[in-house]
Amino acid sequence: MSSERFAERAAAHTCHADGCDSHVPPKMFMCRRHWFMVPRDLRDLVWATYRPGQEVRMDPTDEYLEVARTAIEAVAAAEASKSGRPAIAPTPRWARVALTGHRALSADEATFAGGELPRLAAKLRDRHSTTAAICGMALGVDTLWAEAALAAGLELWAYIPFETQAARWPADDRLRWQRLRARAAREVVVGDAPATWHYHARNDAMVRDADALIAVVDRTRDGGGSLSTLAKARAAGRPVIVVDLAARRTRLLS
Ligand SMILES: [Zn+2]
Repeated sequence: MSSERFAERAAAHTCHADGCDSHVPPKMFMCRRHWFMVPRDLRDLVWATYRPGQEVRMDPTDEYLEVARTAIEAVAAAEASKSGRPAIAPTPRWARVALTGHRALSADEATFAGGELPRLAAKLRDRHSTTAAICGMALGVDTLWAEAALAAGLELWAYIPFETQAARWPADDRLRWQRLRARAAREVVVGDAPATWHYHARNDAMVRDADALIAVVDRTRDGGGSLSTLAKARAAGRPVIVVDLAARRTRLLS
């Protein structure tokens, strides 16, 4: 179990078993039904590694998280064997995840996206073994994505439409672009001179090279490269994580 998942479940006071939303007292690990599906010795280990108050301080030890993860898997396996489903649904590996999104965000939208992207970067790293973040290097969410990815320890792959992408930007933004570019583990420069079609070619290259796409969009806004990139990713069969700016909600289209 990741510390993030622990925090989510502990904060919501829900059972830690997969797919169970039963409310439980904060210090209880699972609802009664799921708890007694955990083998006895593992139940003892959960308590042995539990430190009182960790669900309030949000500081479970790595050892506890490891035991907890094993217990969750044991329940999932027990439930699956009853239902005849495969024991543990494989979590798909998405080594490279690209992001597309609107350049102009309102302050509220930037706050929402700025909270979601670090959370997603860590979750992708922990649950989908993501190692590289593909980024179009534009202003707005692209920059937030690059920073969140680097903070989560992912490699930044910069997909630049043409060399002079940032040439007409305000000095601060240009400097930020140069700094991010310097931190990229890999870069792809698509075109040699400014042209609209290089943006589209850049987006195509990102979809081609990514195992999954994050789309930070407001689907009620019209047009724009982000929505067409989302559509292309869907057409190519890529899973898409939509960070919905209008609904303030994140969900997976798969
Ligand atoms: Zn439960």
